[in-house]
Amino acid sequence: MALHQESWFDHAACRGADGTLFYPAESNERPGERARRETKAKEVCANCEVVDSCLSDALLRNELYGVWGGKNENERRALVRLLSPAELARRHASQDNK
Ligand code: SF4
Repeated sequence: MALHQESWFDHAACRGADGTLFYPAESNERPGERARRETKAKEVCANCEVVDSCLSDALLRNELYGVWGGKNENERRALVRLLSPAELARRHASQDNK
């Protein structure tokens, strides 16, 4: 019998939500459409109790696309440039304990 190991995603506000909010449905998404979609996705993230875990996980996996932890890919890349190696290591260690 397989036991379910709980993870942060079990508490994600986006569980069951429309995935096209977090990723573009089409590769040729227009900038205005993208901004509207990402705003709606970030509204879901703003009410998510695991937003910090989600963002850390996306940073550690170097997630290339979509909205994770309330940030799009450009915002995550900017955040990585600002974080110290020590902070990235702390986040990595924190994720290993979840
Ligand atoms: S922070 Fe956003 S993308 Fe991450 S689990 Fe929560 S709702 Fe989903």
